[in-house]
Amino acid sequence: MRKNRVLRAAFGLENAVIEGLDFDEETGAVVISVRPVAKARHRCGRCGRRCPGYDQGDGRRRWRSLDLGTCRVFLEADAPRVACRTHGPTVAAVPWARHGAGHTRDFDDQAAWLAVHVSKSAVVELLRIAWRTVGAIVARVGADIDARVDRLEGLVRIGIDEISYKRGHRYLTVVVDHDSGRLVWAAAGKDAAALDGFFDALGPERTARLTHVSADMSGTIAGVVRRRAPRAIRVADAFHVVAWASDALDVERRVAWNRASGRVRIRTEDRSNNPGAVGPARQLKLARFALWKRPENLTDRQRAQLEWIAESDPRLWRAYQLKEALRYALNVKGEEGKQALKIWIEWAQRSQLPAFVSLARKVGDHRRAIEAAMDSGLSNALVESTNTKIRLLTRIAFGFHGPEPLIALAMLALGGHCPGLPGRNLPTD
Ligand SMILES: [Zn+2]
Repeated sequence: MRKNRVLRAAFGLENAVIEGLDFDEETGAVVISVRPVAKARHRCGRCGRRCPGYDQGDGRRRWRSLDLGTCRVFLEADAPRVACRTHGPTVAAVPWARHGAGHTRDFDDQAAWLAVHVSKSAVVELLRIAWRTVGAIVARVGADIDARVDRLEGLVRIGIDEISYKRGHRYLTVVVDHDSGRLVWAAAGKDAAALDGFFDALGPERTARLTHVSADMSGTIAGVVRRRAPRAIRVADAFHVVAWASDALDVERRVAWNRASGRVRIRTEDRSNNPGAVGPARQLKLARFALWKRPENLTDRQRAQLEWIAESDPRLWRAYQLKEALRYALNVKGEEGKQALKIWIEWAQRSQLPAFVSLARKVGDHRRAIEAAMDSGLSNALVESTNTKIRLLTRIAFGFHGPEPLIALAMLALGGHCPGLPGRNLPTD
């Protein structure tokens, strides 16, 4: 029947027989009754193996499919159980949906694609599903990709980072491939056990093939890398080193604040109409952002604020220059960078600024890893941009249930295997 061929093509029902088409007046939805073709029946939903029948399960079931015009569409079919040798009584596989899903494969793929490409509210409104459901779909699509793709194959140079979210209450440990630019692994947590999970999955042979591992050399990660991949060259991520310097500058800024006149003690109840600070203290407060920013991004006003610091607070100005000088050394790289780093360490040691004296020690301790960053040509930008993008995704994933959907969303967005939109291989008008 011609009508059935149209429906099969439109709803991706290759291995299914269409039994009927109906309109559910109550819900305003189109219902297509289907059954798997003979060769696709009696298969375990989990392993796909052919099995003897077990029982009729819970009877008829519906799967949400792609819309037909403005109407929602459901596929309806029996959902019998089979007796799998490995998995016991299991709902039989259906060719149009993933195991345990309430949506068809095409619907899942479209939802996953949209979650990666458009805003949260657009996904929810367009598909008419709850955001939490999108989380479950993304996790399901992600698990499906993981079963097919070995993301850890061929890794040579990797970057490891930890990303905090929920105001620092939750963490993800992530691994990127410096050569493909992809996110290849992510797990909840930031302790040694989390990262051990990565090296366990990678296995000793593939670990032995790693030549470079970049990370923040001051944290837990460095210790695990030393223990699990002792032969790989450890490379310090420059943006973490710059962050150490920013922290040291912040210590000095607080010291300057405590010295400044014009501070106003704030009682919490009248925070709303408090003047904050006056005089030098106020200037210092306003200059806070100028101190953190890269010089090339400063506004005229912020440049003027820095000039004010240079004139009025030589000590804080020296701290600022030390931070910028370290950033410069990391940017120039190569032999020139190493020379600059050497000079920087000596300068910081003599600076008489306790925060920078101890930073000089820390930089000295990690000098080999920092120099490796100057030699290796590993792009710091990849780890930094992955970090930034995942931080954004953690906000989008707010409302998902647990860390798995967030991890799946990050892998879809940055891991390079996101499904295409169903039917988009067809010609464009
Ligand atoms: Zn099975």
